[in-house]
Amino acid sequence: MAEEKKVRYSRKRERIYEWILSRDDHPSAEEIYLALRPEFPDLSLGTVYKNLHFLEDHGRISRVLSPQGVEHYDWRTEGHGHFICRSCGMIRDLEIPDETRACLPRTSADGGRIETYTMTAFGLCPQCLSGQEHVQE
Ligand SMILES: [Zn+2]
Ligand SMILES: [Zn+2]
Repeated sequence: MAEEKKVRYSRKRERIYEWILSRDDHPSAEEIYLALRPEFPDLSLGTVYKNLHFLEDHGRISRVLSPQGVEHYDWRTEGHGHFICRSCGMIRDLEIPDETRACLPRTSADGGRIETYTMTAFGLCPQCLSGQEHVQE
């Protein structure tokens, strides 16, 4: 009984998690807040952040930082790369082949042990790429 009390079930938190699970576009806290506010009129952005950090601390979601410093959230927690559009900010998953991962150093030059890699590629998404073609003079 005492154990159940340790992590109090939170309906808001579970809905935030469910909503992230339903997306593959790495929503920001603000997007999550706007999407769930109709369901929870007393929801605040601070509550969303608090719950996101809780989920992240418990290894249920991961965080992707945009170049602008905006936190985006991901239901995938196993190592994978991201592709970020430098024009519209779109974030998509990028699969890094095992052969490529195997080539990466396991230690730093000064003997430190590398535990994980985060990989981010930057460029233009298909939409921005086609928009650019039309605009080009
Ligand atoms: Zn784009
Ligand atoms: Zn991802």
